[in-house]
Amino acid sequence: MTPDAFAAPGRFFRGNLHTHSTLSDGALSPAEVCRRYRAEGYDFISLTDHFVGLFDYPIADTTGFRGNGFTTIPGAELHSGAMSNGELWHILAVGLPADFAPSHSPSFAPVDGQETGPELAARARDAGAFVAVAHPQWSGLTLADARSLEAAHAVEVYNHGCATGADRPDGLHTLDLLLTEGRHLSLVATDDAHFHGPDHFGGWVMVKAEENAPETLLEALKAGRHYSSQGPELRGITLGAREITVDCSAVGAVIVQGAGTAAEVLHGISMTQATLPLSRFRRSPWIRVTVIDRAGRRAWSNPIWLN
Ligand SMILES: [Zn+2]
Ligand SMILES: [Zn+2]
Repeated sequence: MTPDAFAAPGRFFRGNLHTHSTLSDGALSPAEVCRRYRAEGYDFISLTDHFVGLFDYPIADTTGFRGNGFTTIPGAELHSGAMSNGELWHILAVGLPADFAPSHSPSFAPVDGQETGPELAARARDAGAFVAVAHPQWSGLTLADARSLEAAHAVEVYNHGCATGADRPDGLHTLDLLLTEGRHLSLVATDDAHFHGPDHFGGWVMVKAEENAPETLLEALKAGRHYSSQGPELRGITLGAREITVDCSAVGAVIVQGAGTAAEVLHGISMTQATLPLSRFRRSPWIRVTVIDRAGRRAWSNPIWLN
């Protein structure tokens, strides 16, 4: 068995799903943000400015920055309601219609009478968006918070801005707990770039699709036909009855994780293929794959459901 991201026709397109501009609190104009990502070799980005009244609920019109192999998906970072810690929800929504109705979210503090975060996320999903739980560790998100976001397609497991700005990049712990509860979620790595500091070009998705077009990419993301990376490439994953084989760019570790404590690792020098036994995952309904290169940069597969 080969997961869809590798079995499906097409090629991988590299994209950043979480980016800010001067339409909210970013340092650069939408045009300059798009220019920089395109110059860096990205195939697409989603500008996801903060969807609050303070910034007049921006959903950037980036259609003018498309072309020459680069495209954009309209999106926003949505905010409404309080998490368990009393702070405002952050929810990533990629693929929003331009006329998505504003929430009652004046600024970055929760106010009475707002939609809850889960309600706003559900509205975004119904409107066609790919929805991700943003930066769980940075938010101080509890498992109950994460569980309540039933509309989520994915968990942001690496946020480069939260890594460089707060050393709180992680969402893998939250993801693994939700997977073990049976939630079929994918994972994404993002930049959350604001360009005030070195918060860009650090985490991205590789989406398998037949063309680099917004609707096609969105459909592939919703179907989980992608992996996430800080540098290494995942080129193939094949599951046999007793083992898993991973093909990748040169790495020093290939790890398979499952529910609870289940994990296997193979260490080596410049490995481009590794085969690991699946015996430790007999009781895990899911597994996922992480590879780590010599610089410590990772790539993560989406979860693979075994039964
Ligand atoms: Zn945020
Ligand atoms: Zn953000």
